Amino acid sequence: MKKARPLVVLLLAAATAAGAEKPKVTYDEARRRIPVRSLPAFWIGDVADLPGRWAKLTRAEVRRIAVSPGGRPLHLIAYGQKERCPRHANFNSAIGGRDPTAYMDKASRQKPVVYFVGPVHGHEVEGLTGLVSLIQVMETGRDLRGRAQPELRRLGDRCRLLIVPAGNPDGIARFEPRAIHGMPLDVFQFWAMGTWSDDTVAMWPDSKRQHPRTGPRVGYLGCYFNDAGINPMHDEFFVPMGPEAPAILKVAMQEGPDLAVSLHSHGSAPALLRPAYVPLEVQDEVRRLALRCYGLLEKRGLPRGGAFRPAPEQGNPPAPFNLVSALYHISGATAFTFECPHGVAGEKYSQVTFEQILDIQLTLYEAMLQHAVEEHSRLQAANGLRGAGSPTVR
Ligand SMILES: [Zn+2]
Repeated sequence: MKKARPLVVLLLAAATAAGAEKPKVTYDEARRRIPVRSLPAFWIGDVADLPGRWAKLTRAEVRRIAVSPGGRPLHLIAYGQKERCPRHANFNSAIGGRDPTAYMDKASRQKPVVYFVGPVHGHEVEGLTGLVSLIQVMETGRDLRGRAQPELRRLGDRCRLLIVPAGNPDGIARFEPRAIHGMPLDVFQFWAMGTWSDDTVAMWPDSKRQHPRTGPRVGYLGCYFNDAGINPMHDEFFVPMGPEAPAILKVAMQEGPDLAVSLHSHGSAPALLRPAYVPLEVQDEVRRLALRCYGLLEKRGLPRGGAFRPAPEQGNPPAPFNLVSALYHISGATAFTFECPHGVAGEKYSQVTFEQILDIQLTLYEAMLQHAVEEHSRLQAANGLRGAGSPTVR
């Protein structure tokens, strides 16, 4: 006990010091500290113009899948025919029956289905910028810079693409700076997680300890949340609190994607994260995709993170069951989170230009589509071989 006392004192002192360092930022200050910069024409940092943009699409199938608490639409933009794929059971019952094809025989489809879920955190508009460019590539063969993207288009045509460009339109609408690029940590976090009522910036992990983010403790409602204070990444998936996550999951349930991503952003280098509460085989597949994506990024002179190690759920507390976990459990999709750098100011953070952010997004999509096409061919070949090798035909 005697030995423990100095340690306790030290820990308390450290905690107090950490508490004292918690930054305070007011709304007026956060607005004053938005960097002076001109955002490139290809940058998409708002949702206001999106419905007008979708109305002009000529090749896409456009569907409104939900309306946010703030009255803003969530749209699904799809390319490629929806193939008939009989469903006899929901995914988890099919698995209970030891036959995933009772949910959907994904290998019987001509094309793989790839699902892109745009930012559910409103300030993470790097993914919105990327997806609107992907839509432009599918419409015209060129991204929003006017740059030809023949490989991305060729791969896109070999898949069915499901794109929800804005997963949390309320959060994006609230994001006045339209890009985090060039901001220091405290202002970045102001817009991301918001503040408590004393203007203290809400920092992780405290920021997640109140949900929904409503009531007298809340100062500025950060862009993680919809107008009702819900963070769709951590909705209550079994008894939903907001409309965004259930709409995103319903698309997955109905379409049975082979591959699905939830697009996020952070301060560090681009990274594909370990999906939690999914089989190790699914984690292995995401790791293989991560290595493919990192290889492409490296070849293009872009930054890249490190590959995660597949692992069973463990620890106290363990990883949370989040939107990505739910995407797997409702559709069997190989689902993961992608984190793109924002270009936060400071040496500690991954330094990227706006151009590089778009290149990182398009590189991820290319890696995903390559992966989906190859995995699908492999699955079809394996099924064909099993059929051909079967000694008896019943
Ligand atoms: Zn996020």
